[in-house]
Amino acid sequence: MYIKFWGTRGSLPTPISYQTVRQKIRHALEGAAGLDLSNENVVNRYLDRLPFIAKGTAGGNTPCLEIRSGNQILIIDAGSGLRLLGDDLLLNRGFMKGHQQADFLVTHTHWDHIQGFPFFRPAFIPNNKFTFNSPFDDLAERFAQQQEGLFFPVSISYMSATFEFRHINAHEWTQIGNLRVYPMRLSHPGVAYGYRIEDGQKSIICATDSEYKRVDPTSTERFVEFFKGADLLIFDSQYSLSEALDKPDWGHSNALMGAEFARRARVKSLMLYHHDPSSSDEKIWEAREQAENYLIHHPDHYTCEVNVAYDGLEFEV
Ligand SMILES: [Zn+2]
Ligand SMILES: [Zn+2]
Repeated sequence: MYIKFWGTRGSLPTPISYQTVRQKIRHALEGAAGLDLSNENVVNRYLDRLPFIAKGTAGGNTPCLEIRSGNQILIIDAGSGLRLLGDDLLLNRGFMKGHQQADFLVTHTHWDHIQGFPFFRPAFIPNNKFTFNSPFDDLAERFAQQQEGLFFPVSISYMSATFEFRHINAHEWTQIGNLRVYPMRLSHPGVAYGYRIEDGQKSIICATDSEYKRVDPTSTERFVEFFKGADLLIFDSQYSLSEALDKPDWGHSNALMGAEFARRARVKSLMLYHHDPSSSDEKIWEAREQAENYLIHHPDHYTCEVNVAYDGLEFEV
């Protein structure tokens, strides 16, 4: 499976500020002192060697990720990152002409997970088809409500692609094209679902917007089972540990909790996701380091890769 993260910020789109860009440029320039910057190869080598945080950012779009398996496109969540995915589908993948299709899975309908849909241009092209697979029976109404006149100028009925809303049962495997999908109820205000997605060889879990208040073995057992042996666990890491403790019932988790679940479930790779709008890149990458150290220093010596999801990150699982 191929995966691309189109939006990784939680709660609210969070553009990078002028001051932050300027600070990154300043650091990069300071580090380049003494280099021959008129030589293109020297410049490219220097840029390649710079750590990601010095030249990039976690990004500002709200959750949207794409999984591809052969010709199949599965989109998880319709946050503001969906706008860019839509443009890519139109420009590079034939959705401008119609007669293309893709599947959606929606974790829940808080704004940050659906607000990109009105800007999803392939949905305005006749004969494109989008299937929404969901344990929520009223998902069609929820999407329509978002585009009612008081909140948005264009009604969903004006979007001329074909939409199918297909009910899938929570806690049961279901087939979506080539992929097997298992929806798992998470602990989040208003109900959210995580999804385990398998192609027969690899497994990806998207478990965003979830809080784990009780960490005794009985309370965590069902999550450990759900995460078990995954090749990639995408985990809600909105807060630091202390913020998470200060915000009970806010429905979010942290990188250290992700590391502990990764250890218990023996996952191969942990991806920190749904970053808080107030978190700087420094804070997000620091959380990654803490999670990695936690695993390295744990007495059972289990380690796995820990990475930060950022807008535009793509790879093969
Ligand atoms: Zn969210
Ligand atoms: Zn939420």
